[in-house]
Amino acid sequence: MRKGTDLQHLWRDHVDERLALEAREFTREHVAPVADALDRDDRYPLNLVRLTADRGWNSMTLDPRYGGEGRPMTELLAVLEELSVASAILGISLITIFQSQRCIELYGEESLKERYLPRYAGGLPASFALTEDGHGSDIRTLDTKAHRTDKGWVLNGEKAFITSGAAAELFVVLAETDVGVSTFAVTKDTPGVSSYQGHEAETFGLRNGPHVNLVLEDVEVPADHLIGTEGRGLKQVMVTLANSRTLAAGISLGIARAAFEGALKYVDTRSAFGTKVLDFQGIQWYFAELAAQIDATRLLTYEAARDLDAGRDIARSSSSAKLLAASLATKVASTAVQVCGAHGTRETQPFGRYLRDAKAYEVAGGSAEVLKNTVAKSLVKAVRVEDR
Ligand SMILES: Cc1cc2nc3c(=O)[nH]c(=O)nc-3n(C[C@H](O)[C@H](O)[C@H](O)COP(=O)(O)OP(=O)(O)OC[C@H]3O[C@@H](n4cnc5c(N)ncnc54)[C@H](O)[C@@H]3O)c2cc1C
Repeated sequence: MRKGTDLQHLWRDHVDERLALEAREFTREHVAPVADALDRDDRYPLNLVRLTADRGWNSMTLDPRYGGEGRPMTELLAVLEELSVASAILGISLITIFQSQRCIELYGEESLKERYLPRYAGGLPASFALTEDGHGSDIRTLDTKAHRTDKGWVLNGEKAFITSGAAAELFVVLAETDVGVSTFAVTKDTPGVSSYQGHEAETFGLRNGPHVNLVLEDVEVPADHLIGTEGRGLKQVMVTLANSRTLAAGISLGIARAAFEGALKYVDTRSAFGTKVLDFQGIQWYFAELAAQIDATRLLTYEAARDLDAGRDIARSSSSAKLLAASLATKVASTAVQVCGAHGTRETQPFGRYLRDAKAYEVAGGSAEVLKNTVAKSLVKAVRVEDR
């Protein structure tokens, strides 16, 4: 007899079933009870982030030399998917932790890795700060500047829309130097670092504490806080984002599953014209089509994570996974509201939250258009190599 939510048997486990069950039980006990309040209050889930760290999930894929678990990406994906069935807010809180950690792990100097990476196992909240008011999709040039000094680097500028920024103690920041954009590790307590929640900081979805503007005023960091090679920042963030897009797709799939299951349960209780709403074939077809699409998108997403674990190029597969998962989550959440009728629009119900979180993730972490550009680029490259 399988444990878990009543409807769990709908979805195949793509990793060790025990891990999925553990994440599911954690979600039911700790996440589901606070999910609506986190969204309503636009609050960073610090307690939950500490609890997930206790389970080893905040540094699950990190090399054990730095206090991590050294587990495959597919397992982290499974955990984030399960957590996000209850709260995409917790999902994105863990994704910014992953992004900053992975960028340092892949490109940082040994001294930098030893200094910061072990702190993730203790629940270090962290952010990945690329965007500025004038630079979103296009971050090839930036208004945030860094210049070299005798002792290291000095950064000046302002980043915008920074998820988890309300609580972050460490920021991976993209800034422009003389030779192009570069990434830097900056701690919250460095003199000259401040943040504020601008009057436009609140978003309607993925609300884990209003997104902050991160202000850097003559911020001095040591030389090894330049992550990797000067001028290679764009490549580094593209690789880091390609890695994290598999997880982003998992978060969207969590939202899709939650909306699907919530609506399916409701229409099986609701009656109209002397029958259960679920017995109308027109309603069943919605669910049949969405279930097929969720299954297919999950397969693609786990395949992208497996590609990553196998060291294969994932630019295309992770972009395709996020592209499909994000738009599918919006479609499922929207359909869930539709089939639930007025009940689906109630503020006391989570369907509005699902819809808002799903839509926000069609923009955050790589918009649909930018993801299509990435997929298209790999297709063009493939056909031109073939032609040679
Ligand atoms: C909820 C949320 C959380 C976020 N968290 C973070 C964070 O933690 N860190 C961070 O750095 N940023 C964060 N962002 C910012 C996010 O990364 C940007 O919103 C995103 O990169 C798009 O940039 P933009 O909003 O400036 O849109 P723009 O770049 O102004 O684009 C506007 C429209 O044009 C389209 N477009 C742009 N370029 C092209 C192109 N070449 N071809 C076709 N269409 C194009 C876009 O897809 C979009 O539809 C977050 C955003 C949201 C909504």
